[in-house]
Amino acid sequence: MKITIVFLLIIGLASLWIKLNPDDSTALAKVKNLSEPDSTNHNGVNMDNKVVKTDEEWKKELTPEEYRILREKGTERAFTGKYWDHHEIGTYICAACGTELFESNTKFDSGCGWPSYFEPIDSSRIIYNDDSSFGMKRTEVICAKCDGHLGHVFDDGPPPTGLRYCINSGSMKFVKKEK
Ligand SMILES: [Zn+2]
Repeated sequence: MKITIVFLLIIGLASLWIKLNPDDSTALAKVKNLSEPDSTNHNGVNMDNKVVKTDEEWKKELTPEEYRILREKGTERAFTGKYWDHHEIGTYICAACGTELFESNTKFDSGCGWPSYFEPIDSSRIIYNDDSSFGMKRTEVICAKCDGHLGHVFDDGPPPTGLRYCINSGSMKFVKKEK
């Protein structure tokens, strides 16, 4: 009887310790946790309402470069995309499905050669995937609405988030803000 009580006490303390000490407490881990699948409607965008198309359909709708990036997880060469040095005021949307992803006021000059943002318009519009391709441990960022590959997110961004969403220009379109 006594042994059982001691055993339960140990289990209880162990689970409490695990709760108090999540092994991943970086900004990146937090944002990844925030975007756990959630079927609620965020800011009018219902991510349950997925855009699903065949490869053939995507090929018809996208340019070859958009298709290579969005559907085949390609990467444009640094300093070659149309938005890395783009400073107009407006909104960057997914080139495949039109979901509004990033606002120009969250864009910053990272010097990496790809458009970089410190946060998305809404974390529910982004899905985060662990990516270990090319021998690197990275976090892939994809559009939650159409599953299109956008780029990666890193932990070396500026305040307030400390994150750098490093996105391919070719995965997005820009909508200039009307004055
Ligand atoms: Zn999309």
